[in-house]
Amino acid sequence: MSVLMEHLSKTYQSPDGEVCAVSDVTLNIQDGEFISIVGPSGCGKSTLLSMVAGLETPSSGAVYIDGEEICGTSTKIGFMPQRDHLFPWRTIWGNVTLGLELRRGKSTEQLNHVSELLSRYGLSGFAQKTPSQLSGGMRQRCALIRTLATDPRILLLDEPFSALDYQTRLSVSDDINTIIRSEGKTALMVTHDISESISMSDKVVVLSERPAVIKAIFDLSEFRGVSPMERRNHDRFKQYFNDIWKELDLGA
Ligand code: ADP
Ligand code: MG
Repeated sequence: MSVLMEHLSKTYQSPDGEVCAVSDVTLNIQDGEFISIVGPSGCGKSTLLSMVAGLETPSSGAVYIDGEEICGTSTKIGFMPQRDHLFPWRTIWGNVTLGLELRRGKSTEQLNHVSELLSRYGLSGFAQKTPSQLSGGMRQRCALIRTLATDPRILLLDEPFSALDYQTRLSVSDDINTIIRSEGKTALMVTHDISESISMSDKVVVLSERPAVIKAIFDLSEFRGVSPMERRNHDRFKQYFNDIWKELDLGA
């Protein structure tokens, strides 16, 4: 499924006045494409994602999924937040089927799909454990499987690895990338990690300081089909990193 953000803007009303978080963002994501958004902290990345998720109403502009304007949340969209938000008192199985429970009824077919995802991604032996018995990387995979359980066509990921240490991030981003690619999802990921954006996506969109406007878009199509680990060792990786870094212009 494709996603079109057209002239999206968002201004929050706060007690101290108006905060313009996103200004006139137009971006098209094609079916099966993986796009990363990088930008300075507080620039409006989560706000942008929330509008695509239908959790925030744009002040102006609109979001279209396969040409149809969205209003409110949609079952076509799965949202994976920054922290894994697994419930500690529920088993892994109880956690990954939560989304199905919240939506009317879980069919045998859907439950089988979840079992299959757990075993495909190395977690079937952990179904009856609780989250505290799992490593950070496994918890993150559970969070993704929970998001995939309802079979959304589009995945939105808000800094999905920021709670993980560096080594774990590397292997989890590799895993998650494999999962997203093999399930054929369209994905939009927010991150502040340039290397992560280059290692996973087809395009990197660089946002400005608040209010977020698009400063540049980097096309990484030469890396299509190349795994995150391989990309990190690729000759061109450093060049992309430097170019994106310059564009971000964090003034450091
Ligand atoms: P990022 O995800 O890039 O760090 P956010 O989208 O979370 O940035 O926030 C962008 C700006 O909008 C920040 O200045 C933040 O304080 C402000 N903001 C976010 N949510 C709200 C809200 N609900 N009400 C008022 N201001 C908000
Ligand atoms: Mg954010």
